[in-house]
Amino acid sequence: MNKILVVGSIGLDTVETPFGQVQDVLGGSATYFSVAASFFTPVNLVAIVGSDFPEKEIGFLQSRRIDTKGLIINPGKTFRWKGKYSYDLNTAQTLDTQLNVFAQFKPVLPADYQDASFVLLANIDPELQLEVLKQVKKPKFIACDTMNYWIDKKVDALKKVIAAVDLLFINEAEIRQLTQELNLVKASKKIFSWGAKHVIVKQGEYGALMFSQGSVFSAPGFPLEEVNDPTGAGDSFAGGFMGYLAQKGELSEKYFRQSTIIGSVMASFNVEDFSLNRFKRLKYEEIEQRFKEFKRLSHFEETL
Ligand code: AMP
Repeated sequence: MNKILVVGSIGLDTVETPFGQVQDVLGGSATYFSVAASFFTPVNLVAIVGSDFPEKEIGFLQSRRIDTKGLIINPGKTFRWKGKYSYDLNTAQTLDTQLNVFAQFKPVLPADYQDASFVLLANIDPELQLEVLKQVKKPKFIACDTMNYWIDKKVDALKKVIAAVDLLFINEAEIRQLTQELNLVKASKKIFSWGAKHVIVKQGEYGALMFSQGSVFSAPGFPLEEVNDPTGAGDSFAGGFMGYLAQKGELSEKYFRQSTIIGSVMASFNVEDFSLNRFKRLKYEEIEQRFKEFKRLSHFEETL
């Protein structure tokens, strides 16, 4: 079975939404990604935490087909992110980012991670994303994610990453900021001109658009009754997408479309609860059920 190599952040998040708040809970782009992907395929994880990172959380990752050989534990403090959402749950307001051990992180891939066929560069410093790309031999498919923090601070490195990947995951506000283009069709064309072949524009509760050269596919957001914490929705989307695509192993339009829906399914579960709590109790049958509900959600008859 194809494994996915992921590099990204693992952190302790402090989050406030209109529905509650949590402090120093498990979070990070690689965490949400790996756990979402692990429902479909095994994951090799490259990340760093500090000596204050709870051991039980490493145990949790290991219980989920996630190989943690590439997880470095350094003296010092784990990455921390503090964010707040108001009633518009689509926009996170970052209150504080403490890179901590990430400031000295130099990712080194264990030998058996280097021939990964599916690679996800989760949201992390684009210079670290480039370091990882130098160490993988001949991947079949590479995707990356990013956020406004890195667009503001390291746009040149980010453009080099985009030139080297097949697919970019990015949210609506961030693709506009990055390309300086308001129109999403034009913005995605600009990304293609930089090198990536596909762009998935995440639109929060409204779903996602997958642009490929010459085609576009739309996945709705699932109309949920219970939304508590949108943190990690984007990473869960990417995890579901890549996990399913790697499981199928074939880069066809059919699987790209199905993977986009699986991405939306995983994001929709994640936002129902804080941190990774919903994934901790999620059953595979629930994923299958919601996948079918997605089909019904926007199915219509072709004949007028
Ligand atoms: P998402 O809501 O999918 O965009 O991702 C949220 C996760 O990203 C949180 O769990 C944070 O720990 C993590 N995060 C926030 N800011 C950064 C950053 N600058 N670099 C890497 N990860 C981050």
